[in-house]
Amino acid sequence: MSKNKSSESVKVVVRCRPLNRKEESNGPAGGIIQMDVRLGQVILRNPRAPVSEPQKTFTFDAVYDANSKQRDLYDESVRPLIDSVLAGINGTIFAYGQTGTGKTYTMQGAWMDPEKRGVIPNAFDHIFTHISRSQSDKQYLVRASYLEIYLEEVRDLLDPNHGNARALELRESPESGVYVRDLTSCVCKSIKEIEEVMNMGNQARAVGATDMNEHSSRSHALFLITVECSQPGPDGRKHIRVGRLNLVDLAGSERQAKTGVQGERLKEAAKINLSLSALGNVISALADGRSSHVPYRDSKLTRLLQDSLGGNAKTVMVATLGPASQHYDETLTTLRYANRAKNIQNQPRVNEDPKDALLREFQREIARLRAQLNHRKWRSKQKKEQVDGEGWEQDGDEETEGEEEEGVEKEAEEYVKLEEQRLEMETEAIRGDQFMLAEEKQKLLGEKERMMGDLRKEQEATEQLTAKYKAMESKLLVGGKNIIDHTNEQQKMLEMKRHEIAEQSRSEREIQQQVLVQDEETLELRETFTSLQQEVEAKTKKLKKLYAKLQCIKAEIKDVNDEHVRSRQELEQTQNELTRELKFKYLIIENFIPPEEKNKIMNRLTFDPEEDQWKFQPLVPAESKSSQMKKRPTSAVGYKRPISQYARVAIAMGAHSRYRAENIMFLELDMTPPNTASLAVAEPNQSHSLDNSPTKDRGVRKSRSWCQTPKSITSSSSNVSLAACHTATPMAAQ
Ligand code: ADP
Ligand code: MG
Repeated sequence: MSKNKSSESVKVVVRCRPLNRKEESNGPAGGIIQMDVRLGQVILRNPRAPVSEPQKTFTFDAVYDANSKQRDLYDESVRPLIDSVLAGINGTIFAYGQTGTGKTYTMQGAWMDPEKRGVIPNAFDHIFTHISRSQSDKQYLVRASYLEIYLEEVRDLLDPNHGNARALELRESPESGVYVRDLTSCVCKSIKEIEEVMNMGNQARAVGATDMNEHSSRSHALFLITVECSQPGPDGRKHIRVGRLNLVDLAGSERQAKTGVQGERLKEAAKINLSLSALGNVISALADGRSSHVPYRDSKLTRLLQDSLGGNAKTVMVATLGPASQHYDETLTTLRYANRAKNIQNQPRVNEDPKDALLREFQREIARLRAQLNHRKWRSKQKKEQVDGEGWEQDGDEETEGEEEEGVEKEAEEYVKLEEQRLEMETEAIRGDQFMLAEEKQKLLGEKERMMGDLRKEQEATEQLTAKYKAMESKLLVGGKNIIDHTNEQQKMLEMKRHEIAEQSRSEREIQQQVLVQDEETLELRETFTSLQQEVEAKTKKLKKLYAKLQCIKAEIKDVNDEHVRSRQELEQTQNELTRELKFKYLIIENFIPPEEKNKIMNRLTFDPEEDQWKFQPLVPAESKSSQMKKRPTSAVGYKRPISQYARVAIAMGAHSRYRAENIMFLELDMTPPNTASLAVAEPNQSHSLDNSPTKDRGVRKSRSWCQTPKSITSSSSNVSLAACHTATPMAAQ
């Protein structure tokens, strides 16, 4: 899978925007940045330092000053990267810098003005022009996705349901590295289509910007383009190369003011700082080269850029600066970041025949549809032969593939037309036949009708298949469509020349930089002194130069230390605030949440190493959900609760006195009048017979229970009730 194992460093270019009106009106201080475009150097002046303090100089792969054109940056620094992507190598361009320094301007620019179009629209032009000019044996598939990372959550900007969509998960596979699960990807066939995709995403982002304060400067936006190219190799088989391009517009790099920030805002600030400081840590760890651990997993952003920083990709970092003196500290931090990133080594390689290439699937599907269509064609041919009763004039096998496809539709149509005519004629003939019985006529007409219906269905199916086949095929872009276009030829020449010029100026700059370094080293060797006086002068000059350099380096050390202390203080402050929040939450848990509830929650917590965060297990495990849920009793269908057969009959009977209630027990008052007898004074010797003597002989008798067999029933109402009760008992017991 890998070719070209060589490693190359991240290319870092710096761009400074012009002073804006507000900054100009702020005073005569002017810019603090000077740029030597020829040498690729940025010279930074500290507005607070005395004039004697030496200025800071940084050297980069290229620098673009306030007068630079979008096109210059693209041709010189981005074009080679996009060419690599088209050849199947992963590429990343990211803009880094303080808010308002021109990250979005560099990446997107003003779309309507050809002079001000940024890296992204120029890359669209580049990709599709390259495809239209490539050889006709190449097939391309271009896909685009757009996402943003806001508050450490990955959100799909192409999801129509963006506002309510849940955050997406990051996954890792050995084939394609870190990727976003379930991310929408749109197949694009032209510049217009990919621009529409971009606009759709930008609108989703814009909605967020109005909903949330300063959203755009707080979220990172990633536009991803995958270019798959299939080309026959020397072995005669088609090989697929896949290049992924990440176009990244980061959130502003300035530190969020932390004083007085609490709750959600604190979390937001901490998270934005987190991903940017994680990016800084990753860059430092990679640039250092000694640390074995690179903290990619510390944030979503660094995980997504894992391949772009120290992995399988070519990377260009555009650091953007503002020239205003009030932003000196931020500008210096950006330059330091950029300077560090220069040392990162990547190992880009050509991604050949990866398993997850979508182009391969598309090619298979197209082949399958074509086979189906050919089969239909063959069938219609057979039928036509049967109808005509003669042979096909031309043998289909001799046709070329292109002719075959075109012919398919025509032949099917022709066959259907002929068949329709034939059926209509036959129907007419049947209608006109006066000797046929009406019944038979009807039967034959019905049959013809059915045949006609079948024919139409078949035609519809073929049309659908053809449409599907064409839609599928149109998704693939074939090279060589514009190759004969004369104006294109000229444009191509112009672009080549531009490319050459860009290459030349780049190599010139490299040579200049090398010469500068060598000059200093060899100065000593070349110098010969004619007199002692001359030697003293020369050496004094050199001493001064070296002393200045020493001072520079000392100042640099001090600066780095100061910055280190500052960022440490900031981190400590964030840590303190977070600890306070944590303590507060613990306090709530301990005082207001019962321990058993807390334990229940704790038991449900599991750590997801993929997502790098704690998650809740569902209360009922997913697989046993159906088995654990009790089924609703069937008797209850249509009723509020299970009811007996008796009750159902009772409902059906309405207000029938026999079914007045479904209760088994009879709870009506017993209206039987009690039997009374005058109390005779019992004789003492008769007291033993209290139990066995009949009660009617003595005083008040106990009232009769409903379940006792009535001995003498006088009331007619009790008679009815008891009868009902007797019937109810066996029924209800069912
Ligand atoms: P960021 O995305 O870094 O926050 P923007 O790209 O939105 O900053 O730029 C802020 C403003 O500066 C915009 O109005 C933009 O037009 C202007 N600007 C930035 N860079 C340049 C440049 N190189 N030339 C002219 N105008 C620029
Ligand atoms: Mg921006």
